[in-house]
Amino acid sequence: MIIYNTLTKKQEEIIPINAGIINMYTCGPTVYHYAHIGNLRTYISEDVLEKGLNFLGYKVNRVMNITDVGHLVGDGDSGEDKMLVASEREHKSAYEIADYYTKAFKDDCQKLNIKWPDTVSKATDNIEEYIKIITKLLETGYAYISAGNVYFDTTKFPNYYELSGRNADDLMVAVREDIKDDEAKKNPFDFGLWFTNSKFNNQEMQWDSPWGRGYPGWHIECSGIAMKYLGERLDIHCGAEDAIFPHHTNEIAQSESYLGHKWCNYWVHMGFLNDLNGKMSKSSGEFLTVSLLEEKGYDPLAYRYLCLNSYYHNSLTFSYDILDGAKNAYTKLLNKTKTLKDEGTLENYESYIDKFKDAINNDLNTSMMVTLVYDVLKDDNLSGKTKRYLINEFDKVLSLDLLKAQDNTIDLELKAYIEEKIALRNEAKQNKDYQLSDQIRDELLAKGIKLVDTREGTSFEIIK
Ligand SMILES: [Zn+2]
Repeated sequence: MIIYNTLTKKQEEIIPINAGIINMYTCGPTVYHYAHIGNLRTYISEDVLEKGLNFLGYKVNRVMNITDVGHLVGDGDSGEDKMLVASEREHKSAYEIADYYTKAFKDDCQKLNIKWPDTVSKATDNIEEYIKIITKLLETGYAYISAGNVYFDTTKFPNYYELSGRNADDLMVAVREDIKDDEAKKNPFDFGLWFTNSKFNNQEMQWDSPWGRGYPGWHIECSGIAMKYLGERLDIHCGAEDAIFPHHTNEIAQSESYLGHKWCNYWVHMGFLNDLNGKMSKSSGEFLTVSLLEEKGYDPLAYRYLCLNSYYHNSLTFSYDILDGAKNAYTKLLNKTKTLKDEGTLENYESYIDKFKDAINNDLNTSMMVTLVYDVLKDDNLSGKTKRYLINEFDKVLSLDLLKAQDNTIDLELKAYIEEKIALRNEAKQNKDYQLSDQIRDELLAKGIKLVDTREGTSFEIIK
């Protein structure tokens, strides 16, 4: 598979360290608030990447962290811990805040058909990992203690600017606002590995360490969790574009200084969600969440459809007009896929599977994957059975519920009623009571429910 690697600034073939297996780490959310749909775009892209790799036959070992401590308001260690701000805002403990917003994030992922990664680990569950790494960084001179805190000395790591591809002066201008107010640092880009009471004495989440009671910095959490679960070498590390500096830059610096060798081969970054005026965030304009979209009558999967129609690496512009366009297109698409009849023979599907793999291979070309769904629908040479087969295969990656749509549109009570009738009819057929079995079929048909018998069993269609 070809992917754009931020580290080398070019598209490259992914060659896994262990054949057939991909070790993939994705930065998780800081659980101090609901996720913005712009954040969720990153998780949608990562989900498609994982499923795309699966489709190509790779086993993916994916790990994600949940940041529930140590992420300060300013990325350059300024301001308070975001969890603390939330706990003051909502008069709850930091642990309650973390539980609540972790659940909210999980619900959002479910609504957007984002698979929950196999391994998800909370930052607060891995304190001993960070202490182990920081201890060695102090011993080897990569870290120093100042004003009671432990900092990483960025001047000791020669490749510090490789990932961002920007020089110190340039970065200084970009992050000036963030880095100015921690005078304990020797160099402006040095970052906190461990903070003690000297930083904030009202921090609720604290642990004992060789450097005093305190808590870890945000960056060390991802390095610690990634190494704990995926070992010393990563194939792919993903995240949002704005994590390149300082977060991922700092992860590389501390991990490679600790390990003494290269840590991760491919760095994959997801573009921003912009509005018509520029980058969207929690602080600008309306706070766009999945729940808000639902309240306004949008299926969350219409948003997923919108995201899939753009290249993950580019910025995507959001407006309600654009979302309306995606919603209409997605609804029309569902109307076509859900009326596909399971008839004819399964044949001539191989070339479409190849084209779909090509789209994945080509730097995760999701809009091409969506186009292939339309191509299949339009192709008169394919039987209904083949079309359904192909769309079902594609949807393993796209996860747009293209064939499940019919079930979603009827209420659960009706569905349970029909399934009960189908079971009764099966029983009648088994007892060779064909009169009863036909009677059940006709009863349902009179109610606008048509039963369809296939080799796999009986399904149903709502026909009026
Ligand atoms: Zn991270």
